[in-house]
Amino acid sequence: MKEKLDYIIIGQGIAGTTIAWWLNFNKKQFYILNDEKKNTSSAAALGIYNPITGRNSVKTWNSEILLKELEKFYSKVEKKIKKKILYKKNIYRPYKNIKEANLWNEKISNSKYKNYIKSEVNNKKINGLYDELGGIITSKSGYIDVNKYILESKKYFISLGRYKKYKLNNKKILIENNKIKIKNWKTNNIIMCIGIDETKNKLFSYLPFKHVTGNSMIIKTKLKIKNIINKGISIIPLKNDLKNVGSTYGNEKNNNGLQELIDKLSKLLKIKYTIIKEKFGVRPATIDRRPFVGQHPIFDNLYILNGLGSKGISLAPFCSKELFNSIEQKNKINFEINVKRYNSKNINK
Ligand SMILES: Cc1cc2nc3c(=O)[nH]c(=O)nc-3n(C[C@H](O)[C@H](O)[C@H](O)COP(=O)(O)OP(=O)(O)OC[C@H]3O[C@@H](n4cnc5c(N)ncnc54)[C@H](O)[C@@H]3O)c2cc1C
Repeated sequence: MKEKLDYIIIGQGIAGTTIAWWLNFNKKQFYILNDEKKNTSSAAALGIYNPITGRNSVKTWNSEILLKELEKFYSKVEKKIKKKILYKKNIYRPYKNIKEANLWNEKISNSKYKNYIKSEVNNKKINGLYDELGGIITSKSGYIDVNKYILESKKYFISLGRYKKYKLNNKKILIENNKIKIKNWKTNNIIMCIGIDETKNKLFSYLPFKHVTGNSMIIKTKLKIKNIINKGISIIPLKNDLKNVGSTYGNEKNNNGLQELIDKLSKLLKIKYTIIKEKFGVRPATIDRRPFVGQHPIFDNLYILNGLGSKGISLAPFCSKELFNSIEQKNKINFEINVKRYNSKNINK
């Protein structure tokens, strides 16, 4: 790495890949260093984006803006890598009980939700599913093929000479004149995108991360569906009878969610299936449920893009844009995601 770089990105999950594309689109000189861990959050992710989430099915934070950014962004990436990664799909949500059916009936007449509701399903509709109470079909959702997004982006960046397998640890981080240096590489800025591993790192470990474990799996089943199905867990139709199924939410670092996922699937799927692949990861979530984006309070060449929690796919394009514009154009980052909100609290030098 002899050229003077504009940026070094550490980590190539959803966060690192997305900011790398922003830099590429804006003709910046950058290099990605990634340790290629196997069980990352991105590797386990289903890749769903969905503006209506949570136990009470409410509109997510900033959903209109996030949706606009994400469709524009991933379509642009598709053109670069010449592969399809963005699948716009409605979500069919079979009602769990009468209370939930009533909740959705209220939403149908609420102008806030009108644009998101496609139709109501009154009778049992899909062979092989427990959907006796009917359900609702919502729109403006879909999924990104996360593995393809990350793998094809990596290939593209390798072809440009912008990627290296490398594990950063505390011993390799040098401090010189209030700036961070890694080896003798010359760069103006460093962006940390290492997901939950940031908690092991001395630079941003003062931030209140939360470990949220999750399981997902690929199964094979004859179930015929066009939409994503969501009832506690989600089922995404893939090719050749394959389906992506997830997810669980745990608070421990060990892998105990697979059985929970199988139990939940047995309440949704009536027909036989075979598990093809089990996946596990730890989401880099945050105590206040907002991402960590912005500059380190002490080292002014150091930035972070992290804390994407369970919504990396929809948050990453918006957060990358906010970060990029703050560095290059000195724009203010949306305060709710700006890492500055923790500056006054417990900074560990
Ligand atoms: C089961 C499950 C299902 C999910 N489903 C969805 C979904 O449907 N939709 C959605 O939007 N989100 C989903 N998520 C959440 C999503 O996975 C995260 O929001 C997102 O992947 C976080 O990406 P990241 O790049 O910050 O972290 P990570 O994916 O953890 O990536 C970090 C990267 O940094 C690298 N790295 C780590 N340490 C170092 C180091 N010291 N040096 C160099 N490189 C390093 C790793 O190898 C990795 O490549 C799901 C998560 C799980 C666990």
